[in-house]
Amino acid sequence: MEKALHDVFGFTSFRPFQKSIIESIVKGRDVFTVMPTGGGKSLCYQLPAKLMPGTTVVISPLISLMKDQVDAARATGIAACYLNSSLTVQETRQVFYQLYHGQIELLYTSPERFSMQGFLSDLANIPLSLFAIDEAHCISAWGHDFRPAYLNLANIVRFFPDIPVAAFTATATTKVQDDIITRLGLRDPHTVKASFNRPNLFYHVEPKTNGQKQIIQFLNNHPNQPGIIYCTTRDSVDKLAGYLVEQGVCALPYHAGMDTYSRAKNQNAFNRDEVQVMVATIAFGMGIDKSNVRFVIHADLPKNLENYYQETGRAGRDGEPATCLLLFSRGDISKINYFIQQIPDEQKQATAREKLKLTVRYATGSVCRRRQLLAYFGEQYPTENCSNCDICRGIQKQVDITGDAKSLLTTVVETGQRFGVVHVVDVLYGANNKRVKQFGHHQLEIYGTGSNNSKRYWRSICDELMAQDLLVHEGD
Ligand code: ADP
Ligand code: MG
Repeated sequence: MEKALHDVFGFTSFRPFQKSIIESIVKGRDVFTVMPTGGGKSLCYQLPAKLMPGTTVVISPLISLMKDQVDAARATGIAACYLNSSLTVQETRQVFYQLYHGQIELLYTSPERFSMQGFLSDLANIPLSLFAIDEAHCISAWGHDFRPAYLNLANIVRFFPDIPVAAFTATATTKVQDDIITRLGLRDPHTVKASFNRPNLFYHVEPKTNGQKQIIQFLNNHPNQPGIIYCTTRDSVDKLAGYLVEQGVCALPYHAGMDTYSRAKNQNAFNRDEVQVMVATIAFGMGIDKSNVRFVIHADLPKNLENYYQETGRAGRDGEPATCLLLFSRGDISKINYFIQQIPDEQKQATAREKLKLTVRYATGSVCRRRQLLAYFGEQYPTENCSNCDICRGIQKQVDITGDAKSLLTTVVETGQRFGVVHVVDVLYGANNKRVKQFGHHQLEIYGTGSNNSKRYWRSICDELMAQDLLVHEGD
């Protein structure tokens, strides 16, 4: 194993868990691996493909990536090829010829193949070493990338009782994890769950004052580094991409409103380092096969921390330092809330609201970002100071706000604990509007005592008090 790691892949040592996973596979045992993006999952099936007699079949969801994946494997010195709907009849025949003659170590194929008449029996005539199921969470309807074709993979263990099956995913929720094992019918799998901590990622939150300017400033500080900028809507993607190009940045858009061809073209340009910045909606996801993404910027607030973790996870897969910047604006909360209101199921609405709250807390509280992210997945971060987020590095200035906190809490109490942030801040600031007068709040002793600070300042005090659970937001 070590020799192959060195001679074939050119690596000096295994990453955590890779060795034990490969050992199990080589012994013929099923494996279930949960490992964050960048953990090095591909090696866990590519190395066995090299070591074991017979062909390793990799099931991977994106046809658009298969050619690149095969090219990369070949460049490494692995006899690899792929089977999918993009091949001609002639090419397909050629691949099967090579398979029958034991010339292929690694075969990439799509889940759809497994629903095709005769495919399983065709495979049965070929000496196989392993089935590796990449992005295995696609089999679960609970996951974010459910692909019904993955359900066909349940037949593998029935058809090939003697071939080990290894499933890989970067999905964090235990519900999806359990679902994968059950649906694939894995047999007492060697299960590995790596920590979700990504030590090389620097988490940073900045208040969004002027998003475009802030992004340009960031790009000036990270010249020529490849990165992704996520926006919520297609419209904002187009606008921002256009603006960046105007400013001389090499940027392209990506969203589901574009035609398939343009999307694939832009995605490939990014994967092949032909463009620096990809401005995208969350539609830009699994297709990112690029290990040197140096930053992920969220120009808008993500709707929950699970999404945020997945999206930021696309940075720094090579293990080198990378930055995750979130531009936070309170205005984004109401935009997400609007979408949440459209969810028909009340229970789901409540869950979405709860998740949004945690995202806001992540962005506004003065608690280690890494600790918060890991806590979201039920993982306790053991170190006091992670030294790689803005909080732990002391980039966020710590100030004593006891006095202002008291003023704000007093305003909340004096107005009867039933008004929203906007009104409370108006009263404290001394706004001279109809609503304040209507409730007689201009006659309160606290009225106007906060006029020496901006409303924006008072809102940020509010955010902090809520993040620290000193102030609780109830109902709508
Ligand atoms: P994942 O699929 O888990 O997101 P990849 O398999 O794409 O991760 O690997 C991420 C990066 O780490 C790739 O650039 C890969 O070459 C590199 N890598 C994997 N294993 C090792 C190793 N043992 N030593 C050094 N680099 C590695
Ligand atoms: Mg992968």
